[in-house]
Amino acid sequence: MIPVTKPFLPNREKLNQYLDGIYERNWLTNNGPLVQELTSKLEEYLGVENLLLVSNGTLALQIAYRALGINEPVNRKPAEAITTPFTFIATASSLKWEGVQPVFADIDPATWCLAPENIEAKITSQTRAIVPVHVFGNACDVEAISTIAQKHNLKVIYDASHAFGVHYKGESLLKHGDAATLSFHATKLFHTVEGGAIVFKRKEDLERAKKMINFGITGPEHIEELGINAKVNELQAAMGLCVLDEIEQISADRQAVTEAYNHFLDGKFQKQRIQAGASFNHAYYPAALENEAKVIELMSSLRDSGVLARRYFYPSLDSVSALEATSTTCPESRKLAERIVCLPIYSGLKVEEIEMISKKVLEVAQ
Ligand SMILES: *Cc1c(COP(=O)(O)O)cnc(C)c1O
Repeated sequence: MIPVTKPFLPNREKLNQYLDGIYERNWLTNNGPLVQELTSKLEEYLGVENLLLVSNGTLALQIAYRALGINEPVNRKPAEAITTPFTFIATASSLKWEGVQPVFADIDPATWCLAPENIEAKITSQTRAIVPVHVFGNACDVEAISTIAQKHNLKVIYDASHAFGVHYKGESLLKHGDAATLSFHATKLFHTVEGGAIVFKRKEDLERAKKMINFGITGPEHIEELGINAKVNELQAAMGLCVLDEIEQISADRQAVTEAYNHFLDGKFQKQRIQAGASFNHAYYPAALENEAKVIELMSSLRDSGVLARRYFYPSLDSVSALEATSTTCPESRKLAERIVCLPIYSGLKVEEIEMISKKVLEVAQ
């Protein structure tokens, strides 16, 4: 079976050494030495400051909303955040979970990210934030979004779950927005089994979030504010340190997979237009086929050959009733969600396998 992605398993000896240290110290969680080491190594690798590790990418979003205060009602009614419908459910469900109503604005049909020109029409007196997604690692139009946010005094929280290591104009993409969140789930480019991080623009927001992830406790007998448990533990950090040591190889492997697919498939279907000035991390290999019938045909022909492609991201979130979005729909997102399929990409995927998968795509796409 060839899955759409495989969790990367780092060198076992190295992991064992970290585990030996954990056994010696008997310090398993609550900001242990490995969590501190991973925090500074990630800041260095990514080229950012004010990074906070948290237990997953969904809580990263929720803590970011709370640290920035966007969950607070406006005139005793729920606040609103403008977001994209073309993403993983957690972007929008995390808002709803925090009592913020997601309001969907449509995507750009070429970049597949939230289109800045669709944002302003959705702003109301309730709007507190914009929550765009660097979908499949493609940088949003951060400058246009920042201009709109400043004009209307809104916070910007980027769901950067796919954008690990992406640079824009020579700097980390994660520096854009009041906060940017990452997911370190096992299936992501970089992982800690489960985990995530928030990169804050301002140190004071980081400090508030630090308290929040540990129940609001600030001392042995002191509880300063409302909090939750979103801590990472030493075992997660040990995995992260090992994976980070091999990140260059992981990235090179994924780039090679992308290049092999491109070699077999170039020009056979619509690809995402990558933002000018941005690097690309090869986290996904999405293909937009002509229509949904072709997607279904391809999925089933791949399944017959033991290949599991995935329809990331379907359905378009403006059609998910649990999110209680307003009646306006996002036609570009719905059209794309019907046509999209992500092909397998991971370290260790063989060229013969890529060729076999590509042949199936060509049978359907031509
Ligand atoms: C994976 C993902 C999340 C959620 O991250 P978890 O670590 O699984 O909680 C949120 N948003 C996007 C876009 C994702 O792909």
